[in-house]
Amino acid sequence: MLTSKLPSVSTTIFSVMSKMATDFNAINLSQGFPNFKSDPALIELAAKAMRDGHNQYAPMPGDLLLRERISEKIQNLHGKHYCPNTEITVTAGATQAIFTAIAATIEKEDEVLIFTPAYDCYEPSVALFGGKVIPVQLGAPFYRPDWNVVRSKISPKTKMILVNSPHNPSGMLFTKEDMLQLQTIAEENNLLVLSDEVYEHIIFDGEVHQSAARFTSLAQRTFITASFGKTFHTTGWKLGYCVAPQTLMNEFRKVHQYNVFCVNTPLQKALATYLEEPSHYLKVADFYQQKRDYFMSLLKSSRFKIIPSKGTYFQLLDYTEITNEHDVVFAERLTKEFGVATIPTSVFNTEKQDFKQLRVCFAKTEATLKQAAEILNSI
Ligand code: PMP
Repeated sequence: MLTSKLPSVSTTIFSVMSKMATDFNAINLSQGFPNFKSDPALIELAAKAMRDGHNQYAPMPGDLLLRERISEKIQNLHGKHYCPNTEITVTAGATQAIFTAIAATIEKEDEVLIFTPAYDCYEPSVALFGGKVIPVQLGAPFYRPDWNVVRSKISPKTKMILVNSPHNPSGMLFTKEDMLQLQTIAEENNLLVLSDEVYEHIIFDGEVHQSAARFTSLAQRTFITASFGKTFHTTGWKLGYCVAPQTLMNEFRKVHQYNVFCVNTPLQKALATYLEEPSHYLKVADFYQQKRDYFMSLLKSSRFKIIPSKGTYFQLLDYTEITNEHDVVFAERLTKEFGVATIPTSVFNTEKQDFKQLRVCFAKTEATLKQAAEILNSI
């Protein structure tokens, strides 16, 4: 009676590992969410917006003040103007922004190049609209892109290339040179680009986020997606946005207005005020760098090998010195026997290649990181 449109999709690894963490009372370093509180001032702004009566529908593209703040932020950081009226839309997290950008552009038999390991919402979104994902596997341990391989995967059917820097799960960053290569390839082959930049403010060691917005011709063909959940420790608010040139944003909004119409009003009001103070997002990099460094220092004599994350709130742990087990098997055993839940990275790879690496999320309190490190050091 019903043929599944997504026959190979099952429960995500995040739900599986988080459930296992609960069932076995393990420390949950698997799913990417902070276990500390967000700024009380931001919470108060949200409560105030509700008390002040901002509880009805927002404008379809989002609260205007919030769109203006987003525009200013991008102008200040990347020197590019996006028009709040026509080129910025507030979404229900980056997930909806990604889905909507794909829904608005991908047709049957279009090919979309995606670097793997890849965040898991990309492929099903493309498949749902009849598109085909062409994976480009990045190699451990550094996960650097090889642009010649990218070129070799392009066909007359290629419609879009989807990139994600800072990169989940590896913590790899695209350099300026990478972005210039991307720009050239996209121009030469007349491709659309979806640049998933949800970790834009979580970048370490003084590196600069090379947003697609910085590259004039690239920006002309790119949807950039972003997430307030990642930046302000509010993943449960599911608020994000998409920016794109007007011609692309017109198509984006045609879908957006019928899949959500608009997203919740009071939290948009709160974020619009909160964004008035740039330090609220500029200090996030230092905050997470301290966590990364603290966690690494705790693990320095462990048998897990660490390649320092350059961005995101994830860190990969190589366990080849400990065991030869498959990463899914080891991650399960780590949860059940030792009480630390992680994410096996093979599930994000093209052929499910097992590089013997686990992803941990260090967006946790020092107490949680210390407790987890004590267990990991004992293995
Ligand atoms: N892209 C990447 C790379 C992510 O890691 C995540 C969240 N884990 C998302 C998109 C989704 O972001 P949001 O929660 O704002 O929907």
